[in-house]
Amino acid sequence: MMEEFTMDAFSLKGKVALITGAAYGIGFAIATAYHKAGATIVFNTSRQASVDKAMLAYQEAGIPAKGYVCDVTDEKAVQAMVKQIEEEVGTIDILVNNAGIIKRIPMLDMSAEDFRSVIDVDLNAPFIVSKAVLPSMIKKGHGKIINICSMMSELGRETVSAYAAAKGGLKMLTKNICSEYGEANIQCNAIGPGYIATPQTAPLREKQPDGSRHPFDQFIVSKTPAARWGTPVDLMGSAVFLASDASNFVNGHILYVDGGILAYI
Ligand code: NDP
Repeated sequence: MMEEFTMDAFSLKGKVALITGAAYGIGFAIATAYHKAGATIVFNTSRQASVDKAMLAYQEAGIPAKGYVCDVTDEKAVQAMVKQIEEEVGTIDILVNNAGIIKRIPMLDMSAEDFRSVIDVDLNAPFIVSKAVLPSMIKKGHGKIINICSMMSELGRETVSAYAAAKGGLKMLTKNICSEYGEANIQCNAIGPGYIATPQTAPLREKQPDGSRHPFDQFIVSKTPAARWGTPVDLMGSAVFLASDASNFVNGHILYVDGGILAYI
């Protein structure tokens, strides 16, 4: 007989979710969605000022989140934060590796130090944070890891060599965690957002001195079948799905949420 399916499969009630870099933008939207689905929210950013500002935003949104200051590239600090979360809130059921940076510099002008700094936040950190939460997940017999990849996990473009290398690597880390720990009932998947209007992409939407639209803004809208930028809200449903029991047999997958642009360009 077929198992019964109910919409409770999408509920995150009773789960603890850590979303890295969830002060604003995509991370904040995912945290909001997880709160609506019933999860307890913990987040971190690298700076006290961002945590303080974010706490106000969470309060305003009616979300009782707990914020931690932790640079995700610092393995010792991450281990300490995860231990503290486990003691103060509970073991982590859902991890979203969201913290990320981009440096738009043509490759020949980019220093090795700049390249490394992007790899550090966008690729090494998801390894570090995943490694810190996996032991408890394995012990509990379940866990969800969601890596925030990018269209640049599939494509290259001028000025984003480090970002594309990191996000391409993150796609493969996703598949590897799935292969290595799937048997322990860990699902590791990724979301690949298209162009999303957040502070990270604000410079690409700035008006030109003559008041016209930024050429990149025009390019994105013309190449996206949805004919618009995405918003953080566009990612909320996919993020809940990948964190919930509804996706228990989905593993090692990259879900592109991009308004169709990857299908077109
Ligand atoms: P934002 O720049 O708006 O937010 C990034 C967050 O990461 C901030 O909260 C920032 O806080 C935090 N962060 C950065 N470095 C660190 C660090 N070392 N330790 C801890 N926290 C850190 O980014 P978006 O919301 O736009 O992007 C979120 C994710 O989505 C990123 O991984 C990004 O690459 C990816 N993405 C975004 C797209 C877009 O169009 N916006 C498209 C595709 C992917 P603080 O600086 O205070 O530490």
